[in-house]
Amino acid sequence: MTSNPQSETQNSRSPFDVVIVGAGPSGLACAIEAKKHQLQYTVLEKGCITNSILHFPTQMIFFTTPELLEIGGMPLVSDREKPTRNEGLKYYRKVVAAYQLDVHQYEEVVRIEQLESHVFRIHTTESAYDARNVVISIGYYDNPNLMGIPGEDLPHVSHYYTEAHPFFNRDVVVIGGKNSAVETALDLFRGGARVSLVHRGAALGQTVKYWIRPDIENRFKKGEIIPHLNAKVLQITRDHVKTAQNGTTSEIPAQHVFALTGYHPSTKFFDQLGVQYDPDTLRPQYDPQTFETNVEGVYLAGSVIGGRLNGEIFIENGRFHGEALMKAVAENSEKMGT
Ligand SMILES: Cc1cc2nc3c(=O)[nH]c(=O)nc-3n(C[C@H](O)[C@H](O)[C@H](O)COP(=O)(O)OP(=O)(O)OC[C@H]3O[C@@H](n4cnc5c(N)ncnc54)[C@H](O)[C@@H]3O)c2cc1C
Repeated sequence: MTSNPQSETQNSRSPFDVVIVGAGPSGLACAIEAKKHQLQYTVLEKGCITNSILHFPTQMIFFTTPELLEIGGMPLVSDREKPTRNEGLKYYRKVVAAYQLDVHQYEEVVRIEQLESHVFRIHTTESAYDARNVVISIGYYDNPNLMGIPGEDLPHVSHYYTEAHPFFNRDVVVIGGKNSAVETALDLFRGGARVSLVHRGAALGQTVKYWIRPDIENRFKKGEIIPHLNAKVLQITRDHVKTAQNGTTSEIPAQHVFALTGYHPSTKFFDQLGVQYDPDTLRPQYDPQTFETNVEGVYLAGSVIGGRLNGEIFIENGRFHGEALMKAVAENSEKMGT
């Protein structure tokens, strides 16, 4: 990765044209476009590049065909119809290397303040950076939707699933009724865990992939995975998940619990900067042509735009935000003579 000479904020140095917060597929696509427009940019990333994908289930297969995950026109070659998580990670590493993108890994942005019009100071765990424009492309995967029940914070409860092996011959409860919960329950079952699936709805989510649904339904029918539908989780204890179902309470044995009840973006930077958003859906306001928010110079890219509605912006469509966005940043920079 190339290093940018302007990494430290010093008042004598001119600010970056644009700082991109988050090195997911959308943030990286923005960086490529910034480079194409010869803008002075950097990317600040709290973890490693594509940190969210790193934390997806280890054996995950994308639901998207390879060409729809591509950024910067670089081909993603896979010998499968749909690439694996590992292939995706390898691909994005190659993109960053090929484009020599300036990414500061393991540098979390903690605060963004506006000093004046088109001057922002971005404070990280390591340093601070000044920029005329900021792109917030932080995704949603860092913030699980909590149920607000006792025991949710116990050490055997997790909001992220990686692989089945540690759960062999163990009682595992999976909470949730969408793709992540269903796929986790199936993987755990095939890894030799005793699995119960608890879902508050009367049926599994409508969006469960059509090729997964018959598999889980057959596991339910055969009693291989125990369904608890229409069940409200009341409490998690060290050994059980307590639920209320049709007026009766049950205690389901649970040595491990995966609460896969979705995720939502952080609104921290919106609040700090005065970006307007809907308090229920957490969807920010922005111009769909330029991706600029109500705060001039503050742009959004990728799945953060969807708020709580995670099912609308994926890599497939979020990868295009950078193109329109950086065109607008470049045009504005030219107008302002910077
Ligand atoms: C299990 C699973 C499977 C999926 N499969 C597909 C698929 O097949 N096809 C598809 O198109 N989509 C898929 N998606 C959705 C897709 O992964 C997301 O839409 C995509 O990651 C969004 O990209 P992004 O760049 O907007 O956000 P992210 O990939 O989440 O990137 C955001 C980045 O910002 C960083 N960040 C957050 N806060 C800060 C901070 N304060 N400072 C610095 N950095 C920060 C994060 O570490 C992260 O690297 C899947 C999602 C899941 C959960």
